[in-house]
Amino acid sequence: MGTPRETRTEQAAAIVDRLEETYPDSTISLRYSNRLELLIAVILSAQCTDERVNKETKPLFETYDGPEDYANAPQEELAEALNSITYYNNKAEYIRTACEKIVAEHDGEVPDTMTDLTDLPGVGRKTANVVLQHGHDIVEGIVVDTHVQRLSRRLGLTEESYPERIEEDLIEIVPEDYWQQFTHLCIDHGRAICSAQNPDCSDCVLADICPSEKGDSEIDLASGDVW
Ligand code: SF4
Repeated sequence: MGTPRETRTEQAAAIVDRLEETYPDSTISLRYSNRLELLIAVILSAQCTDERVNKETKPLFETYDGPEDYANAPQEELAEALNSITYYNNKAEYIRTACEKIVAEHDGEVPDTMTDLTDLPGVGRKTANVVLQHGHDIVEGIVVDTHVQRLSRRLGLTEESYPERIEEDLIEIVPEDYWQQFTHLCIDHGRAICSAQNPDCSDCVLADICPSEKGDSEIDLASGDVW
């Protein structure tokens, strides 16, 4: 078991420092060329890999151009275009109805406030935070996806389980300049080393400060289960 820094603020700073050094080019891995494409890609990425989403959105973005196209697309046609993505029927419905709302209430532009974004079908706080950060350069929170959720608990930054509660804890301790980057660093480290099922603690740059480190700790603090 590693020994965490004395305070959670110090722990967060040490984690950011080390992960930044390890993943200097860490950034969003979804592909898009405008705000609407970003919004659609993030809606599609719920419980689906970014790799799969990127594969599907390539032809999708060539077929549909602008919110009117999606709003006017027949449900079955749009669902068919997304059929290798998890929950594609629901997601097609979200995209269609979100675009109807964007056309009707926002002059065809993807909104730039948390309230207006989370008012769109299929858009929760996580999706809205990603769109604000990468589409509008507005950082007002920390995106808590499954990797951020797992790593934050394993590393002793929070004991909360729900993403919105975890975000509340993280914004108290992660330096504001790093709110956006923190997510990408956790995602990169979660994919490369600290995977859900079999983290490679012996090759981890955080091992000496991680209270879940497998060498000594019997417990995975993310799940509360024995390793
Ligand atoms: S890989 Fe192991 S040591 Fe590293 S952060 Fe994950 S649980 Fe901790």
